[in-house]
Amino acid sequence: MPDDAKTWEARAAAHSFYGFTDLPSIRDRGTVVVTHGEGPYVFDTNGRNYLDANSGLWNMVAGFDHKGLAEAAKAQYDRFPGYHAFFGRMSDQTVMLSEKLIEVSPFERGKVFYTNSGSEANDTLVKMLWFLNRAEGNPQRTKILTRKNAYHGVTVVSSSMTGKPYNEVFGLPLPGFLHLTCPHYWREGQAGETEADFTARMARELEDTIAREGADTIAAFVAEPVMGAGGVIPPSEGYFQAIQPILRRHGIPLISDEVICGFGRTGQVWGCDTYGFRPDAIISSKALTAGYFPMGAVILGPTLADRLQNAVEAIEEFPHGFTASGHPVGCAISLKAIEVILNEGLLDNVRALTPRFEAGLARLAENPNIGEWRGRGLMGALEAVKDKDTKTPFDSHLSVSERIANTCTDHGLICRPLGQSIVLCPPFIMTEGQMDEMFEKLETALNQVF
Ligand code: PLP
Repeated sequence: MPDDAKTWEARAAAHSFYGFTDLPSIRDRGTVVVTHGEGPYVFDTNGRNYLDANSGLWNMVAGFDHKGLAEAAKAQYDRFPGYHAFFGRMSDQTVMLSEKLIEVSPFERGKVFYTNSGSEANDTLVKMLWFLNRAEGNPQRTKILTRKNAYHGVTVVSSSMTGKPYNEVFGLPLPGFLHLTCPHYWREGQAGETEADFTARMARELEDTIAREGADTIAAFVAEPVMGAGGVIPPSEGYFQAIQPILRRHGIPLISDEVICGFGRTGQVWGCDTYGFRPDAIISSKALTAGYFPMGAVILGPTLADRLQNAVEAIEEFPHGFTASGHPVGCAISLKAIEVILNEGLLDNVRALTPRFEAGLARLAENPNIGEWRGRGLMGALEAVKDKDTKTPFDSHLSVSERIANTCTDHGLICRPLGQSIVLCPPFIMTEGQMDEMFEKLETALNQVF
């Protein structure tokens, strides 16, 4: 049968693999094939529209038809679409974007390295650390500390950093990637333990881990300010204030993985600003281009930038980079995205909408099967439980969050099931009316499932 005689769904199923997708849902319900978008809405091949409370994948913060971003892309495609980012050359757009990124970063100076994704940025960071530690005569300083439930990507190294059990199917993590306790007080706190006690326990665990492993074997501690794909988990009160001094004392760099939090999601430019800590480097992607180009960046603060520069000078080369690193079109889009987010009201809108967002989450959390709502800025989650008092989760095979998300899709709302939670991370351009629509549709779905 010629392809165009089949349905879009059949064609999608025949020739494409889905990643991170619940196959029973696809089998039972088919898929949605999307053709275009308007503001926070996307449209499918059947002409149905969906309010995307997932911002694509946290990234389409300026919506799906931002004219300024499309024009910035077109202008650069017309002017110079090609590679010339490094290997002895660099495009003017890349030069300007690095200047801009350092200007908006928390660092007084530093350097940027470009990748095509957040996963590659995390891999690049690890290679940078391994490279400079070897150059400094510390080849044993290789271990990477992250947390259970953290998400840092899907390449071999960034999967190893990710603290999700599903990576066991690949035989990961690699040795030397250690996962500390997820700082989620509601779920991980022990009976009778206050939040302050819990945070102190997280700090003690870090101290104990460093003592056990040896500080001189640890290359970095990498953390998302708010865990995103772990189910939107803000850290317990005082968490970063408790761990940062420990890491400093042991000379272990603290890296902020801002792939989700960066560029406004938490209500400040960086999640580390929201949580009041000062990282040694930032990993960025997603809102970096407002989702209009695949790009990631490692932004090194002064200390790591200098150490890497010295290591590079010792062998006169940093033997790493991707074909499209610092692509001029991606850089032109990113420059525009930063302008749009910071100067054209998107960040202001995140701040303005946050109280309404929190109130909506809190209201839906009154449902007897929602154990907790949590969030920061415009990222939030509702966690489903079988028993609210005991916080007993549903059996994971029942996939309650999957059923809620599927029911939402039926009502024209896209939101993400993550573990037992439903995650909402709306685009920054959302209006109050669209936010109300989002919560109304989610409430309808919750009432249908529970
Ligand atoms: N780091 C964090 C915090 C993320 O949320 C993600 C993706 O969601 C990544 C890294 C990986 O980014 P990418 O999917 O662009 O490889």
